[in-house]
Amino acid sequence: MTRLPLVTALLAVALGACAPVPSAAPPIGGGSAVAPRPADVVELTEPPSTAAVPPASCDPTASLRPVGPLPPAGQMPAGTTMARVQARGRLIAGVDQNTYLMGFRNPFSGELEGFDVDMAREVARAILGDPAAIQFKVLTSEERIPALERGDVDIVVRTMTVTCDRWQKVNFSTVYYHAGQRVLVPSNSDVTGIDALGGKRVCATKGSSSLVNVANAPSGPIAVSVPNWTDCLVMLQQGQVDAISTDDTILAGFAAQDPYTKVVGPQFTAEPYGMAFRKPDEDFVRFVNALLERLRADGTWASIHRRWLGAPPAPPAAVYRD
Ligand code: GLU
Repeated sequence: MTRLPLVTALLAVALGACAPVPSAAPPIGGGSAVAPRPADVVELTEPPSTAAVPPASCDPTASLRPVGPLPPAGQMPAGTTMARVQARGRLIAGVDQNTYLMGFRNPFSGELEGFDVDMAREVARAILGDPAAIQFKVLTSEERIPALERGDVDIVVRTMTVTCDRWQKVNFSTVYYHAGQRVLVPSNSDVTGIDALGGKRVCATKGSSSLVNVANAPSGPIAVSVPNWTDCLVMLQQGQVDAISTDDTILAGFAAQDPYTKVVGPQFTAEPYGMAFRKPDEDFVRFVNALLERLRADGTWASIHRRWLGAPPAPPAAVYRD
């Protein structure tokens, strides 16, 4: 735990921000410097549009049923998406490097780590027999679907909520984590949750469901969008936004990095996470769903949860569409 402040400081340096100013720290007198803002900050005047209209009957948590047992690693059936990955010798996975505990860069080792990173490594292990046979591509929230559509990545494992809207463009695995949206504020704030944020500036990333949920919250917050989650933390630390609202997983990482913040209020949305795939790669979805069945049953899911997020609950149950 002693390394956490250093992690925060190095992340801030890596992002080109000035040293983090604790939210509740006394103001530094005498200076005239204006705190810089992260690049590409946008204050929304209306909710982000969600492109296609999904069918009313859609259950976003229902995925494609596995067929047969998992083939042994290194023996992927000819002609499949997994055989292509095997022939290449590595899985290409889209992850985050900005979300402590889920997908972040360890400043000591330079390696990407976290719950999502470990889950992606299990997919590499299942195909190639080696969790290190993986190439990571770092993606912002907004880049996840375009990266899949362009074929830049085989899979996205990046705090991604399964939604009917997104199912129109990508396929999802069964749910591997149940998150929910909450609110993070400075520890000296008297804000109690999303309902208390009417007219206040609330940060979330562009392309996230969190931003849509903030913009549509009945209390009427002012949604502020940025590229990366760490930009939200820097803006909160500099007093440029009043709160951050996103998944409790992401907020737990912020609270661990910055002791001058706290998570408040109940979960006001359900954010079930799925791994995302290119639309044509249905074989790969079924393969990963078979793998997820095994990881839930053999204790691997629980040990990855324990490593990053603490004592594990029962893993999310698989739901299939027929
Ligand atoms: N789970 C939300 C989403 O998929 C927020 C997480 C994120 O953008 O990293 O949009």
